[in-house]
Amino acid sequence: MHLARFPRLHFAHLPTPLEPMTQLSKLLGGPNLWIKRDDCTGLAGGGNKTRKLEFLMADAVAQGADTIITQGATQSNHARQTAAIAAKLGLACQILLEDRTEAKDVDYNYNGNVMLDQLFGAPLKKFPGGTDMNAAMEELAAELRADGKKPYIVPGGGSNAIGALGYVHCAMEMLHQADTAGMRIHHVVHATGSAGTQAGLVTGFAGSNSQVPVLGVGVRAPQELQEGNVFKLAQATCEHMGIAGAVKREDVVANCNYIGKGYGFPAESTIDAIELLARTEGILLDPVYSGKGFAGLVDLVRQGHFKPGENVVFVHTGGSQALFGYREAFNLPTYS
Ligand SMILES: *Cc1c(COP(=O)(O)O)cnc(C)c1O
Repeated sequence: MHLARFPRLHFAHLPTPLEPMTQLSKLLGGPNLWIKRDDCTGLAGGGNKTRKLEFLMADAVAQGADTIITQGATQSNHARQTAAIAAKLGLACQILLEDRTEAKDVDYNYNGNVMLDQLFGAPLKKFPGGTDMNAAMEELAAELRADGKKPYIVPGGGSNAIGALGYVHCAMEMLHQADTAGMRIHHVVHATGSAGTQAGLVTGFAGSNSQVPVLGVGVRAPQELQEGNVFKLAQATCEHMGIAGAVKREDVVANCNYIGKGYGFPAESTIDAIELLARTEGILLDPVYSGKGFAGLVDLVRQGHFKPGENVVFVHTGGSQALFGYREAFNLPTYS
């Protein structure tokens, strides 16, 4: 696992802290709950796309790109982090947003991540839900090339074999932190969407034979499809690293029981989980990803899925900037 073999720019604030959730562990009983603070990666408020972008932007710069193209849902955290690093590197950035929820409220369409994309100077273009966004990015790239530009396409969520290296690195970082502290990690849990985070983590743990099981809590696709997507990307990541076959199909496990109505729609359990973590540990989750991942973790703890005394690490993938696009989803009191 010698990651310095791969081109990388360094802009994330690393290592991110691995902290105990003392209040929450006491309240729920059972395992010792830990949190890996990848919401604190530094770029544009942080989040999991920063680690992926360190490798993706190194590739873009090596290819002589002058314009970054990427896509995501309206409240995409990936779009925010990509727009920020493009600004820092002096590259143009064009963002294609897929309207997956058709929400009409002003906060959803203009606040949160959308406001930040615009602050970083990235032009936005909206597409209806169900659009082939990869084709839309290719079309824009062709137009830019015809104008003499050098576009570089970052896939949705930064999830390809290059981006996933960021989470191979995160697995190594967690192992180093745990080994230094003399703490065995029994389980890792996190929210899984475009698959790059989980693919990178399982590649890192399996490729180093660390025997740390990873559970991805799905936010969009049903279990079989999600596990298939993660496994395919993990295989590609292993090949890219020269360790083909290191990840087995059974290393990839997703639980997709906490999605609720669909992608971008917080379930009641999502809102409860966000309030629980805010009110026990003072940490903010988000309504699309980490809130659902955390709802899964809390429910599994309550069901006795983990043994007392086990160390369970929740990887906080960020996203709290999206809270401001979802004010209406919370039932907060009025005051005077
Ligand atoms: C993108 C994202 C995820 C999901 O990560 P993938 O690599 O796309 O599976 C989880 N949490 C947050 C906050 C995200 O923005």
